Amino acid sequence: GKWVTRGNTMIYEDYYKEIKDDSGKITDIKLTYGDDFNFAYDVMDRFAKEVPDQLALLHKTADGIKKRFSFKDMQVLSNKAANGLKSLGIRRGDSVLLLLKRRYEFWISILALHKLGAVAVPTSHMVSAEDIRERVRLSGAKAVICVNADDICSKVENAIEGLLTCQIVVGDAYKDKKSFDQMLESGESSFDRVTTKVTDPMLYYFTSGTNGAPKAVIHDFSYPLAHIFTAKNWHGVKEKGLHLTVADSGWAKTAWGKLYGQWFMGAAIMVYDYEQFYAGDMLRLLEEEKVNTFCAPPTIYKYLVLEDLKKYNLENLHYVTTAGESMPKEVSKKFTDMTGLTVREGFGQTETALQTCTTVDGQQVPGSIGLASPLYHIELVDENNNPVPDGTEGEIVIVPKDGKRPAGVFAGYLCSEDEYKEVWDGGIYHTKDMAIRDKEGHFFFVGRNDDVIKSSGYRIGPSEVEDILMRHPAVFECAVTGYPSKTRGALVKASIVLNEGYSPDNRLAVELQDFVKKNTAIYKYPRLIKFEESLPHNANGKILRSVIRKKDYNK
Ligand code: ATP
Ligand code: MG
Repeated sequence: GKWVTRGNTMIYEDYYKEIKDDSGKITDIKLTYGDDFNFAYDVMDRFAKEVPDQLALLHKTADGIKKRFSFKDMQVLSNKAANGLKSLGIRRGDSVLLLLKRRYEFWISILALHKLGAVAVPTSHMVSAEDIRERVRLSGAKAVICVNADDICSKVENAIEGLLTCQIVVGDAYKDKKSFDQMLESGESSFDRVTTKVTDPMLYYFTSGTNGAPKAVIHDFSYPLAHIFTAKNWHGVKEKGLHLTVADSGWAKTAWGKLYGQWFMGAAIMVYDYEQFYAGDMLRLLEEEKVNTFCAPPTIYKYLVLEDLKKYNLENLHYVTTAGESMPKEVSKKFTDMTGLTVREGFGQTETALQTCTTVDGQQVPGSIGLASPLYHIELVDENNNPVPDGTEGEIVIVPKDGKRPAGVFAGYLCSEDEYKEVWDGGIYHTKDMAIRDKEGHFFFVGRNDDVIKSSGYRIGPSEVEDILMRHPAVFECAVTGYPSKTRGALVKASIVLNEGYSPDNRLAVELQDFVKKNTAIYKYPRLIKFEESLPHNANGKILRSVIRKKDYNK
């Protein structure tokens, strides 16, 4: 890659330029990079050269074991890993599965794979041996790097039985499998640059599997550049600041929040490696480590606001953000009331970078997923791909600005050309998510297309009804779905988990129904209320409305 060394570390500026209008509003973003741009060499190794001792990664386990990695450390360790993987036969274009939870070896491995020009396939540890086998087959993985925790090693062992895939184990030894530590020890600390093309596949990231089986999304080597805006203008990370995003390494939220954009900015990534989430532990960590910027999915905030947030000293925390599913207004409000911090929402997908958000210098409108990112031309369209007027529900789509695939948008689904064609129907990228835009350009999420309830000729978005229910003090969490009805097509059903101290009786059900009726159009109120101990969630903590629906429709 070509770059100008200016003796400072504002590396992102060499790749990223904001185009502004007279009022200072960003209207476009220009990304400039060479054909051989490779994040691991051009960004990370350059930091290692210019600011070798600067903190890159701070890793802390729930037991309090802390490890600090400078940019130089990341360079040396990723070089060693790259050499080790090379000696195992991993080459440019080969793919390697990573089942590493939140271990620091994830960051070493992924940078090593980038250096080799190999494809990283981050995978959640929550999947079955059968899923792992399927993913190995689908990606043609030559190796699986996995952590010896839970039953991951044996699952991987079963999954790759009979295949020529090598198992590399992080942590304690597992049988006779190759040890990651030994691989590092035997590897040289320098590595000769492998020339890669920016159009080479770099990542196969799996979607969350909220509405069906996860799809493997292909991102090429240009993908990291699309996250500069995410880190800079949404997370609000600063050079030498400390950023924490809550996400397992198997979720693309890791690529958004604890990898490319943050390092582009010269910030350090804080990784909290816990097995079980405890809100109090997370808050103590934010306080003790003086985390500056924080991003977490809404589920995490639902637990955080149950704590007495005033007890914690969060004076170092400047910006907080959320994305991944609908953020209930009430949760956001409680968080702000207790901390004084605005929760800035963002919206996007594994297939793309951040599509809409409230930027650090923007005002968060309650319940809004923000304005369109200047990286994209976002529209709302009807079934015929025609733009809908403001104030009307439409599908969120990305319209290519110059006929080219927009930055950060995936290059395809692995082995699913039909699905890829379908989402590009009419030459625009379809998110299958429904939203409404106001006159000022703020987007409001209505629901996934499949989750929108069609009842007596009305379309009812689950988000709005859930949002109202969440305002009732009895409700901890809820999911609104369609329930089969011969006369209405579907009934509105609310599955509700109660806060402690509330009993799931008929009186409360009626009270909740009345509460919704009072706060929105009457046809939206849930005719059916079902109290549940818990709701189905996927590995990333998202509520699985599809699972509730399937149960009801197959009865
Ligand atoms: P799958 O595609 O396998 O069904 P998924 O869509 O949940 O799973 P991800 O790519 O992790 O997989 O999530 C992207 C989706 O998450 C979006 O399409 C949208 O439905 C939802 N989402 C993301 N951000 C928000 C948000 N701020 N508000 C509401 N929904 C959001
Ligand atoms: Mg999806």
